[in-house]
Amino acid sequence: MIKKAKEVRQEAVEVVCPKCRETCIVYFPKESMPICPYCKVEMIIKEVLTEGKYG
Ligand SMILES: [Zn+2]
Repeated sequence: MIKKAKEVRQEAVEVVCPKCRETCIVYFPKESMPICPYCKVEMIIKEVLTEGKYG
């Protein structure tokens, strides 16, 4: 039984490394929280760039 796929809204989020302040843009929920390539720690959300304002 295949359920109808829910449309998932993409959110562009700017994430920052808490240690070296390296930033990058990811798209949730398609991508998961990135790991800083330098510090090997999970990056944190700095700013949500798109707000869910549909319908
Ligand atoms: Zn880092």
